[in-house]
Formats: sequence, structure tokens, C-alpha cells
Amino acid sequence: MKRIVSAVVLALGILFTAPGLVDAQVGYFGQNKVQYRTFKFQVMKTAHFDVYYYPEEENAARMAGRMAERWYARFSTLLKHELKNRQSLILYGSGSQFRQTNVVEGDLGEGTGGVTEAYKRRIVLPFAGPIRSTDHVLGHEIVHAFQYDITNTSASGAANGSAGALSLPLWFIEGMAEYLSLGPDDPHTAMWMRESVRREKLPDIDHLDNPRYFPYRYGEALWAYIGGRYGDDMVGPLLRAAIGREGYKGAFQRVLGVTVTEVMGIGDIAPSLFGECPHQQGMHFCGAGHVWVELIDPDTRAPMQIEAGAVGEMVYTTLTREAMPIVRFLGGDIVRIEGTSCECGRTSYRQRVLGRREERTTQRVDARFVRRNSLSHQTNLT
Ligand SMILES: [Zn+2]
Ligand SMILES: [Zn+2]
Repeated sequence: MKRIVSAVVLALGILFTAPGLVDAQVGYFGQNKVQYRTFKFQVMKTAHFDVYYYPEEENAARMAGRMAERWYARFSTLLKHELKNRQSLILYGSGSQFRQTNVVEGDLGEGTGGVTEAYKRRIVLPFAGPIRSTDHVLGHEIVHAFQYDITNTSASGAANGSAGALSLPLWFIEGMAEYLSLGPDDPHTAMWMRESVRREKLPDIDHLDNPRYFPYRYGEALWAYIGGRYGDDMVGPLLRAAIGREGYKGAFQRVLGVTVTEVMGIGDIAPSLFGECPHQQGMHFCGAGHVWVELIDPDTRAPMQIEAGAVGEMVYTTLTREAMPIVRFLGGDIVRIEGTSCECGRTSYRQRVLGRREERTTQRVDARFVRRNSLSHQTNLT
């Protein structure tokens, strides 16, 4: 566990600030960023970009303009979209000068490689360091500009309840930006995924918003899979569909023509114990006769009735295992029982996992469990 945590911190250290996170990084009230010098910006215009730079960076600005246009050509073709306005690109000569910027509010940490504003759409980044990684940051940020533009992300939209791209999970947005700027074969992401598989910790899509899964790497891996399996031209339609009522899950089903069903196993009990049928009404319990399941109150551990609407924690006992029987194993998953009959004819109870026991807040309102990491954007798992 410790190792994962430190790895996440390290990875954040070399990556970019997510669009949603910029807002969250609130400095001390009334305290401005220290600016050690005044930057006299000039503007260089390319076909789609206004590149802001200071005179001694003219060569770098010219190069940045060329690189930005290359990304623009690629993304406008791939996403079938032209940005509605000219795109501002503000360049700083070094990381420390970039962190003095007053273009974006809030402190930019050492780990922030670049920023794209959701509403004013300005891309700000240091044009410094190895050209390859600068090119990647530039591509990544230009993907964000397209994401905001395609989804009409704006302050007025947000005021009217449509947050556009900001309504989508980080893994969706950042993963896409990483995939489109790094391509399908990123050794860094591959390393993370191999380790995740080796540890049997590869999450399903529903759990990708858990902060333990670094959204850049896991999100990129998912988009690389989608791109490889269904084609990169699915990326744009998925983005457009995901901000609608159906959400990203509905978008995956409709645009990719797949049925998203869930399966679940518990490493210590059985590799596969629950599975959803095509009716998508929750996972049927499939271990009858081999595993005895009880439902308990996660706080008091009092037994609960397995009946529609009950929310509790599952406890497992193996019935047929001889070498290493397990008695009353606390799985840690908080589930809701969906019912005991189904159109498919199975009569075993159906359940959905709401989250992990340790992710719950101490609050429990009408059997509603709220995931701690969801509180910031007030989504309740009910
Ligand atoms: Zn980003
Ligand atoms: Zn069924």
C-alpha cells in the first residue's frame, strides 16, 4: 500500500495539473503569487494560435507555434472539430517563471507541467526542458482545449448546470489527453498496468474514480484499449456522448455497441462469485452450494436480511473447500441488494457494489453511503 501511495505522488510530480484541480488549488486568501520580474509579452500568430512569448524567447516561440499547429492538424482530424476561436498559447522561458504566472489562479506546484483554463481557454506552459516532453505537454494541453470546445465548457454553462468536460471523471479527461498526446504504446503506463495486473489490483471502470488509481495512467490505458479495439475515431463521439444524460457508461454502450456488465470475485474466496446477466440489473450471486454469504451492518456487524434494498457488507464462508477453508471472511465491499428475481430466470439474489468499507464517511443517512472521494463534487452513491 505504501508503495502505491508514494508512486502516485511521484507520478503527480512529473505530470500536469488537471483542469478540475486548478480550481481546487486555492492559495491563501488575499495573497498573490510572488512575481520576481515583469514579463513583456509579444504575440506571434500562426494559423490557429496566438503565441505569447517574451522577446528573448522568439526562436522557442516559433518552434512552439509549429509544434502546436502539428497537434492541431492531428486533433482536428481525429476529433472532427475545429476550435471555434483562436487559441492562446502563453509561453514561459522556465518552470520557475511559469509558476509566477498570473494567468491562472492558485499555486502551480513543481509537478504542474502545463495548464489549460476551462473557461478562458488559455494554455499556459513553460517552454523549457527536453523538447520531447515539452511537445507532449503541449499536445496534452491542446487536447484539453479541444475537449472544452467540443463540450461547450463555459462559465455561463456551468452557472446553468452544464459543466461540460468538467463534469466528466478525471480518468476520462486526463486519460484521453494522455492517450492522444502519447499514443498507444507508453512504457510508463505499461509499467503501471503490468504491476497492477501482477498485484491483481486492476480496477473495473466503475472504480476508476477512486484516487488510488492515478487517473492519467489508468485512464490512458483504458483509452488505448478503446482506440486499439474500436478505432481512434470513436474518441470524439464518446466525448460528445458522455457529457449527455447517459453519462460515460451509456456512451460506451451506445457508441461502441457493447453491453457493460459487471463481474466480481474475491481473491481469498473464489475468483468469480458474482456476475451480471444481459438484463444489467446487478450481479447475480453464482456461488450457491460452494460459498455461504451473509449480509451484516458494517458498523455494528449485526446480521441483516438479504432482501431488496438492504445495504450492508458481505461476509463469506467457504463450504466445499477442504485444504484452506475460510470462515466468515469480511470482504470489505458495501453492497446493495437489488432483488431476488430476474427476467433471465435466475433466482439467486442480485447486488451492486457501492464502494469499499474504508471509503465510507462516518455519515450514514437512510442507508446511503457517501464515498469520501466523491464528497468534493457531491455525488452520492445511493
Ligand atoms: Zn491534463
Ligand atoms: Zn438476470
